[in-house]
Amino acid sequence: MDFNFNIIIYIVVGVLVAILIYCLAVASFGYENFRENLNELNQEANQYGFTTRDFVDQLNNTKFEGKVELKLCNEGEDHFSPNYIALSHKTLSSNSLASLAIVAHEMGHAEQYKNGVKLEKHWKRKRTGRALGKLFVPLVIIGIVVSLISIFEIIDSMFVYAGLGVIGLAVMLFLFAIYNKFMEIKIEKEASDFAIKFLKEYLNDKELKKCKTFLDSARLTYWADLYRTMFAWTMLTGKTSMFK
Ligand SMILES: [Zn+2]
Repeated sequence: MDFNFNIIIYIVVGVLVAILIYCLAVASFGYENFRENLNELNQEANQYGFTTRDFVDQLNNTKFEGKVELKLCNEGEDHFSPNYIALSHKTLSSNSLASLAIVAHEMGHAEQYKNGVKLEKHWKRKRTGRALGKLFVPLVIIGIVVSLISIFEIIDSMFVYAGLGVIGLAVMLFLFAIYNKFMEIKIEKEASDFAIKFLKEYLNDKELKKCKTFLDSARLTYWADLYRTMFAWTMLTGKTSMFK
């Protein structure tokens, strides 16, 4: 009986350690992996040589009745905002699979925006997170200080509950940050699914597969960010911000 119980403990601990190692590996190499994929796919032109600009215009006309406005932004800052898509000169003039995949993904966000309030709700949650997030460090410090000075009876020992309550609020903020990051991954996945649907009409199977791998590697950076937030306390992960 005892023997079986020990084995179960070993298995549980082993599985937990394996999960931790996996999360730390993704947290460390997720971004690098994406950059490698990006560099590789940046070199590869699509079969017909059409530019990202042609692709966006066509997609806009056929799927969005021309309603998505196109704006210029700095290199590396391609994004979607309500009713417009911002792309850099470099992205627009490129005919690489990487640029097409990035733009198709941003148009995927446009599709989400068109289809419902999911994206707006997510942005609202993120804004709330950023505002409340400023309280995290002060709450942790106040909670620890109040708990300690009441444990050492410098103030009434009943204050320990107040201290623990404040720490509890900080923990809730932390969980809110994790939840937001998890929801972000879901939103990103859906945008990439739309992207693949869009790209399917323009690329051959081989190109499509490469774009899918690239978009998967982009999503892995969001997992990396989530794991960095979850395991920041181990001091083994790269830096991130709880609410960015
Ligand atoms: Zn996205």
